[in-house]
Amino acid sequence: MSLNKGRILIADDEMVNIKVLVATLSDYETVIAKTGEHAVIKAQASQPPDLILLDINMPGMDGYEVCRILKNNPASCSIPIIFITVQASVEDETKGLEMGAVDYISKPFSPGIVRARVANHIELKQQRDLLEKLNVTDPLTKIANRRRMDDYLMTSFAQAKRSKSDMSLLMVDIDNFKPLNDLAGHGYGDECLYQVAQAIEQSLSRPNDLAARFGGEEFCVILPATELKCAREIAEEVRKNIESLQLHHPDENIERVTVSIGCSAIDDSMSEAIALFKQADEKLYEAKEIGRNCVV
Ligand SMILES: [Mg+2]
Repeated sequence: MSLNKGRILIADDEMVNIKVLVATLSDYETVIAKTGEHAVIKAQASQPPDLILLDINMPGMDGYEVCRILKNNPASCSIPIIFITVQASVEDETKGLEMGAVDYISKPFSPGIVRARVANHIELKQQRDLLEKLNVTDPLTKIANRRRMDDYLMTSFAQAKRSKSDMSLLMVDIDNFKPLNDLAGHGYGDECLYQVAQAIEQSLSRPNDLAARFGGEEFCVILPATELKCAREIAEEVRKNIESLQLHHPDENIERVTVSIGCSAIDDSMSEAIALFKQADEKLYEAKEIGRNCVV
């Protein structure tokens, strides 16, 4: 798997330092910030950097303060920070490392050292990101796996309870999957799982909606801040999109691959996420009973 070059945020109040670093790191995509305040904003932007080179001495918000803010925010806490400093004392260096910085670079810059340190930390960060992604991705269907689903269900449920907001859940199950596998073989079965999973994910348009593989031929869609009526509409969209893939079913009595979907929504009686889950599962069972390829 190839890794991209990486994106580096350089925060320094002196333009001359920024220019030297940008030139030294011309192999990378660089983003610059001339104040601590801007550094915080750019580190927490929608496309966050892979690494931050952070000047300690800046007027206004200094490097330590920027580091503290970034390390205290889940959106930016995992971005490695290298402090830029003029000959740091042992105390300074210890303080920075204790605050979560990964390294120090001292001025005046030695281009070779800057490049080598940056390359090491970018590589570590990208390997970590990749592992994190593999850890939450289902290898066959490339959508979220069960572990990610469980985590997200728990967090979303707790959040919905706390803020007394809506939340819905869909259980999606491929109809007649066993005969499909038995008649056409696992290769085609796996292909159908992939196509169906991708179609479910592509049917979702809001950033907080999550599609995950629950297990076997069953999928789960978590819909935060969504009431039941809207969840059913999304489920119907999912069902239609899968039907229109026109995936061949090897049983001659079955026209094509379809799914049944059970929908549930949070209510006051539910104290645990599992209740939401059980209800969607019961609805899914009903959908199967009344003839499949439908939403209940
Ligand atoms: Mg400075």
